[in-house]
Amino acid sequence: MRVLFIFLDGIGLGANDPLTNPFARAKMPNLNKLLEGRSLLKESAPFHGEQATLLAVDPAVGVHGLPQSATGQAILMTGINIPAELGYHYGPKPNPEVAAYLKEATLFSRFAKEGRKAALLNAYPPRYFHGIDSGKRLYSSIPLSVINAGLPLFKHDDLFAGRALSADFTGEGWRTMLGFIDAPVMEPPHAGRTLGTLAKKFDFALFEYWASDYAGHKQNMDDALRLMETFDGVLGGLTEAWDDDGLILITSDHGNMEDLSTRKHTDADVPALLIGNKSAREEFTSGMKDLTHVAPAIWKTVMD
Ligand SMILES: [Zn+2]
Repeated sequence: MRVLFIFLDGIGLGANDPLTNPFARAKMPNLNKLLEGRSLLKESAPFHGEQATLLAVDPAVGVHGLPQSATGQAILMTGINIPAELGYHYGPKPNPEVAAYLKEATLFSRFAKEGRKAALLNAYPPRYFHGIDSGKRLYSSIPLSVINAGLPLFKHDDLFAGRALSADFTGEGWRTMLGFIDAPVMEPPHAGRTLGTLAKKFDFALFEYWASDYAGHKQNMDDALRLMETFDGVLGGLTEAWDDDGLILITSDHGNMEDLSTRKHTDADVPALLIGNKSAREEFTSGMKDLTHVAPAIWKTVMD
């Protein structure tokens, strides 16, 4: 069965506190519907509903300190308890020790080796590649896994041709931040339908959303609310277009945005939200406790 993995950076399950947690305030009717009236909060998990399953998953994996992006994403890509092997959490970008795990052991490499179609659906702008080429920018763990598997990163021409999606979902940022004044812009539900259509071309598709972690570090409630209300619109379009022969997974590498009282990451559990066929959801989430259980569950769902 195909899997669409929407990776939301820096999203934990937090307290039902509208002063600090945007998820206690954001208007997210599509998410509420999936969770039968609940919000994305600590008190909502575990939940096993008709359309969705929500679990709380531990990103600290038994290692002291706050979880970080390079190791967290590397766990999601491999299922290996890298912080336990190295003795530390690390991020945001992988150091050589973390990068060493992101070769044959990742989902992208393993699916490619098995002849399964896998893709990262984000479109990256020219300045991203310039940054990489000039050495000013390092790949984060997810795109590094894609590159190491011999798969392409999508570019601006893929965005314009509708083969990839903007990192902000709607494409607005390509116009306002990147200077592509004729970049295609979509309303959130349209972006969600597009994401679903693109995902159906692959056995395993991943979309990476980093703005949530950024808003958490900035402690900006208005930004966080706007981002999550946009995401909810995406979710509405996506679930409307999605059918029962695929599973949608939404999870994160560590908490951050769910507690805007601190600019640091948090030690909160992260959500594992599954949408799709009920028995596939049950199988995916059985025995799932920490972040190392996610990659094996993706592998099994795709390969079965
Ligand atoms: Zn961060």
